[in-house]
Order: sequence, then C-alpha cells, then structure tokens
Amino acid sequence: MHVSVLSERRDSIAAMMDFLHVLSRVIRKIWLLGINLIFPQRCAGCGIVFLSLCRKCKRELDGLFLCGEVMVDEFRAFFASSHGNILKKVLHRFKYISDTCLAEALSGLLVKRLRSIRPDSGGGEIIIVPIPLHARRERDRGFNQSELLARLVAKEVGGVVMNVLVRERATEPQARLSRSERLVNVRGAFRVRKDFAGSLAGVPETVFVLDDVITTGSTFVECARVLKAAGVKRVYGIMLAHGL
Ligand SMILES: [Zn+2]
Repeated sequence: MHVSVLSERRDSIAAMMDFLHVLSRVIRKIWLLGINLIFPQRCAGCGIVFLSLCRKCKRELDGLFLCGEVMVDEFRAFFASSHGNILKKVLHRFKYISDTCLAEALSGLLVKRLRSIRPDSGGGEIIIVPIPLHARRERDRGFNQSELLARLVAKEVGGVVMNVLVRERATEPQARLSRSERLVNVRGAFRVRKDFAGSLAGVPETVFVLDDVITTGSTFVECARVLKAAGVKRVYGIMLAHGL
C-alpha cells in the first residue's frame, strides 16, 4: 500500500515535469514569435521580411559560383565565387550573426567547389583546417565563422575538421593594411597545437585550409607554412571568394 502511494506520487511528479517542459517550450515559441513580429528577420540580400535569405537572393548567390584558383607563393588556393554584391551582404551578415540559413547557403558554394577539385590526396578523407580567430575575438563574436563553415562543409562531403591551428596573438584586421604590412602582421601569428604531430591518427598528408575570403593570401600562406613545417605534405586553400 505504502509502495503504491509512493509510485503514484512519482508518476504525478513526472507528469507535472512533462507538463512544465511542454509549457516552457510553448512560452519560448510565443516569445520568439512576438520578437519576430516586432523586429522581423530580413533577407540579407533584399531586405524582405521574415526570411534571412529569400529564394531570389539565394539563386543570385548560387549564380556567383565559379571554379576559381589562385597561387600564393607555392600554395594553391581554390575559391568558389566571383565578386558580387549579394555575397558581400550575406557574408557581412553571417560574420556578425551566426545564422544557420546563411551558413548553409555559403557552405553550399564551398561544397560545390571542393567537389569540383580532384586533390592528389590519394582518394583519402578530406581534412579541413579552419583558420582560427584569436581567442579574444572569438569570444567577442561568439563564434568563428571559418570553423562553422568548415563543419558544415565537412558534414556534406564526409570530411573531417581538424582544429590544429592556434592564433597566438591578436593581429590587426588585414583589410586596412597593404600587402607588405599584411605579411608582417601575420608572421609568427600561428602555430600548430602541441599534440598535432603526436596525435594517434598522425599528421595528414593533405589538408585544406578554409577561410571566408582570400585577398593577398598572406594569412593563408602563413598557416600553410606552419602546417608544412609540422609535416603536412600538401596544403591547399579553400575559400568562398577572392579579394572581396
Ligand atoms: Zn532577398
């Protein structure tokens, strides 16, 4: 008798918890709906409300795809799109808000470009190394845009993201600097994680360094040099755009 009262009590507590859980989800949905009505989401391209990227702008973005590549010193970087206002707008929005819809649209271009390449990696797994932000900047922004894109791309192509690079010091934003200043600015800014060479899987033969934009390529080359020095045989770049 005593046991059955206890078990009834447990059941009613569990039912109450379930109810509260559902209630909190409903309240959250209503709250988000309210916020969305007061401050509606707008398309990053054309500003139409209730969408972060409308179909027309997504088509325009996809239309920018091209199989671009550029050599920086001895390193080859592949890029996935031409200059376009829509790309600038989407990328700008994406860098300040970690919007899944925009991330998927942008990573789609990278996936397409990666699939168009036949790397001499012996058909092995595609290893993607995102360019890291300095810890302080990542904290301020809340996420690293290259890492987020790398994860989506890896998921799509069946690749692996290796966070092996560390940005040791905060660098000046490259956009304001000349090519020679950019080289000096990033020199010695990166290193590989200490356990990279000693990891169980070993150092991969081929990696793709992923970043959103490549301009003079000084950041990419610095990362590529560090990876080569750590034993990686082939380092390529995979970027959304060249010199936006
Ligand atoms: Zn639009």
